[in-house]
Amino acid sequence: MLNSSLKAIRGSFVDFVDDPFSRSEVECVRYLQDGLMILENGKILEFDTYANLSDRYSHLPTEIYEGLILPGFIDLHVHYPQTEMIAAYGEQLLEWLDKYVFPTEQKFQDLDYARKIASFFLDQLLLNGTTTAVVLTTIFSGSVEVLFEEAQKRSMRLIAGQMLMSRNAPNFLINEPHKADAENRKLIHKWHGKDRLLYAITPRFAITSTETELKLAGKLKAEFPDVYIHTHLSENLKEIEFTASLFPDSTDYLNVYEQFGLIGDRSIFAHCVHLSDSAFQRLSLAGAAIAYCPTSNLFLGSGLFNLEQAKSKAYPVKVGLGSDVGAGTSFSQLKSMGEAYRISQLQQQNLSAFKAFYLATLGGAKALSLDPKLGNFDLGKEADFVVLEPNATPLLTLRNSAYTGNLPLDAIASQLFGLMILGDERAIKATYINGELAQFRD
Ligand SMILES: [Zn+2]
Repeated sequence: MLNSSLKAIRGSFVDFVDDPFSRSEVECVRYLQDGLMILENGKILEFDTYANLSDRYSHLPTEIYEGLILPGFIDLHVHYPQTEMIAAYGEQLLEWLDKYVFPTEQKFQDLDYARKIASFFLDQLLLNGTTTAVVLTTIFSGSVEVLFEEAQKRSMRLIAGQMLMSRNAPNFLINEPHKADAENRKLIHKWHGKDRLLYAITPRFAITSTETELKLAGKLKAEFPDVYIHTHLSENLKEIEFTASLFPDSTDYLNVYEQFGLIGDRSIFAHCVHLSDSAFQRLSLAGAAIAYCPTSNLFLGSGLFNLEQAKSKAYPVKVGLGSDVGAGTSFSQLKSMGEAYRISQLQQQNLSAFKAFYLATLGGAKALSLDPKLGNFDLGKEADFVVLEPNATPLLTLRNSAYTGNLPLDAIASQLFGLMILGDERAIKATYINGELAQFRD
């Protein structure tokens, strides 16, 4: 009996079945030169070579793509209210926050304004092939509501939460901790687990939270163990110094969060540029994740993240990529990968294309403990994927002119590398959310 909800996607597929930082790349990459993916109700029902599946599914409506089909990109750390103040000149973290970010975030108490930016922001994610994001908002609970509503309209998988701030910020961005706690509880009840939406308890960073607020955050996390913790950690040297002065009893920055029960396998720490060996080990042992934000770390002059240490065999930490707009300079995870490559080069490290694309797909899903649902083309997973156009520009076309026909794996690696160094949203031919076409570039 023909099931009308079934459909097929045919093309060249690339995804990852394991972590290429932990074993040989060829064992981790899955490449189907002529593959077929069968979708049912937003999930992957079958995935194999066209030759193996075509007999059974030849009757289905089939969308055929040139280019490379990959799992949708996962952005582990991005601030939607900062969309409009991207590319703000001349400062490092703390001064940049005061001068540009805080005045912008104030505008989000206006719900119509917040909705307009939330909608623009989510469309930017889709244009750039990002299908899952972990998003920071503002202290205004309405700014979280409109973001969730807009993501729900688009069937996106989104993790977000109200920003907690109770000191060291302008008065207009201070929220009383008990009031914020009550607002968080309401938001968790309303949104956590609704459709594809999940909640993150989000202290901005240790500097802007009182001990009372962090205590309440820890208590909330204990009550709702499957919500996320999302915050910043060790981004900038002055920030680290200031944090140490505010929490003299903590042994280091990470220890502030540890003391309040905020570190575990659903904790996401953005940046981690300046971490001791001990902090990397404690993140690893706790199963916590790092959101590595390359374009942001370079733009704010924060420093060079040590990816090799984070992914060390002895104490591997879960790592994914964050665009960190508006300190990050692009929504494109291709750009994040390209900057990550340059940061590795500056430390005499190498970052292969397969490793970089792993970070933006299955690596991100593992960082969120969502790999049973997302991150590759295993059967039963949610069908979020992108179609990449390796010849998106005349320059890429010239560079790739040797690649035609049935390509070996090293040619695929080279095409992906070209995209991460030279590509941007022009290379995103199509973005699918939950099995449906959400964005198409003519
Ligand atoms: Zn950030």
